[in-house]
Amino acid sequence: MASALTEKLTRLVKEMRGQARITESNVQDMLREVRMALLEADVALPVVRDFIARVKEKALGQEVLGSLKPGQALVGIVNQELAATMGEGVADINLAAQPPAVILMAGLQGAGKTTTTAKLAKHLIEKRKKKVLTVSGDVYRPAAIEQLKTVSRQAGAEWFPSTPDQKPRDIALAALDYAKKHYFDVLLVDTAGRLAIDELLMQEIKDLHTVLNPVETLFVVDAMQGQDAVNTARAFKEALPLTGIVLTKLDGDSRGGAALSVRAITGAPIKFAGVSEKIDGLEVFDAQRHAGRILG
Ligand code: GDP
Repeated sequence: MASALTEKLTRLVKEMRGQARITESNVQDMLREVRMALLEADVALPVVRDFIARVKEKALGQEVLGSLKPGQALVGIVNQELAATMGEGVADINLAAQPPAVILMAGLQGAGKTTTTAKLAKHLIEKRKKKVLTVSGDVYRPAAIEQLKTVSRQAGAEWFPSTPDQKPRDIALAALDYAKKHYFDVLLVDTAGRLAIDELLMQEIKDLHTVLNPVETLFVVDAMQGQDAVNTARAFKEALPLTGIVLTKLDGDSRGGAALSVRAITGAPIKFAGVSEKIDGLEVFDAQRHAGRILG
């Protein structure tokens, strides 16, 4: 791996030439570079601290101090730790349920839930050959219901109507009933978001989870959210048994450190990445490839 970080560490090691051996303080200098790289990528501070502590513990063993190429050895440890935190390979959507397999979409307003619901519908229709129904439980924003209708049509999915005077729970039950009667394979449930975490929102989505018993509960989070991603992720993890994460807006100029933060906090695999506003802008997430991007 020839990243900017490797180059920095190699430079540090060159500066140490002439010294008899690598010392603990040299390792500290190198760890500082790793810390900077993670912070520049917008990984949340508490996650960076834990990460560095784990790397340090390993680095102070013989692996680095005794190595002929200490810079590379340290980068090796950093990569191993990243891989262990991010998870290996790719994790596809689980549809192993009595049809309709219900997928519940959770996240803050603006995270990209509605867009992702349609993108996912398209993915399931085209790649998994499924018959997909979408429904919106966002009774606070009539525009959000209309938005889902529009994007569902673009995705080729059927949309189940809902209105602001209904209770989200009733909407969910009606959609579920309709999906069963019409032999849908998948029911995608878009939910209301708020600009910040609030108790009512959390209670509402918990109720929806109980009523729907989804096979997937996906937490949709904006990669540009940076440091705040950690608080949002913690709140949703406490409220819901998350089965996966969708990281949106990875086409922005962030290095995507939110991926590491959210993964570390929730323990749930990142299943997809949003890479454009368009309906086909969804990619299966490759954790290993992304680890390289975080290090820069
Ligand atoms: P919601 O409030 O969580 O349902 O969020 P929306 O689906 O309405 O998305 C909010 C904004 O983010 C919209 O302008 C979307 O077009 C945009 N958006 C969503 N996902 C992506 C993405 O992956 N990349 C980019 N560039 N924009 C996105």
